[in-house]
Amino acid sequence: MIDLHTHTTASDGTDSPFALVNKALSAGITVLGLTDHDTTSGWAEAVSAARKPISLALGAEISTLTEDGISVHMLGLLFDGENSEIQAMLSDARDTRIPRMKKMVELLRSDGFAITMEDVIAATPEGATLGRPHLADALVKNGVVKSRDEAFAELLTNDSKYYVTHATPTPEVAIRTIVAAGGVAVIAHPMASRRGDVISTSIFSDLVAAGLHGIEIDHRDHTSSERTELRQVAAELNLVITGASDYHGQGKLNSLGENLTDPAQWERLESLASQRRVVTP
Ligand code: AMP
Ligand code: ZN
Ligand code: FE
Ligand code: FE
Repeated sequence: MIDLHTHTTASDGTDSPFALVNKALSAGITVLGLTDHDTTSGWAEAVSAARKPISLALGAEISTLTEDGISVHMLGLLFDGENSEIQAMLSDARDTRIPRMKKMVELLRSDGFAITMEDVIAATPEGATLGRPHLADALVKNGVVKSRDEAFAELLTNDSKYYVTHATPTPEVAIRTIVAAGGVAVIAHPMASRRGDVISTSIFSDLVAAGLHGIEIDHRDHTSSERTELRQVAAELNLVITGASDYHGQGKLNSLGENLTDPAQWERLESLASQRRVVTP
């Protein structure tokens, strides 16, 4: 059971890396991808929690924006965590999330919602990459909405008037940086249209030219016709196909292992990294 996309309290998940690895072991997962938003800060704890028979594919989910302003999430797996270029890119991305959050809080406040930046910081685990789910948690705590899901549905989607983007690399720059750090790049949930505008399938060839290795296809935010279309794109461009849960703990319905990657696809993806970096206890 191979689940290559999950989140912890190092970003906007609700389980610590330790708890995530233990839940994955109980769920029978054999390869777990750890992909917190714009950070590798959960890696060490996950490695210390790992024991047979689980292997870890350490990585990060990098928020990017196309030149047309479309949000694209790029999974980087199996890169060298000590690589200074990728760490600088992740650190810049985390930094820009703070002024972005302040702007979102100001927009909500100016419409009369009870929320302050201090509330959001209080809802964010120490050291975590700041994200909209933390704003959602603060809105729940203040009684504005009942759940993360309601906060997103009512106030925080990408096309909401309260949504603000943050400065991020383009998908091509993120891919090149992942590859230069020895890792593999997989575009996350590229057709998740309920999150807002999505890229057109014609730009996949540009991403492949930048070094893209794979497409996450089996993901709860993709319909069956979107999966069929993406399988055609993957076949045409000879890309690896992955499936994953995008587990976030209690914050979202996604359950560990609900979507999986085929072992042959994983074997191929792993072979594309510059060296063997899977953590096998
Ligand atoms: P951000 O990175 O700050 O733009 O926040 C995006 C994150 O919000 C993504 O990781 C999503 O997993 C999460 N998200 C999107 N929709 C929902 C939802 N309905 N409930 C909980 N989390 C969500
Ligand atoms: Zn998330
Ligand atoms: Fe994502
Ligand atoms: Fe994710």
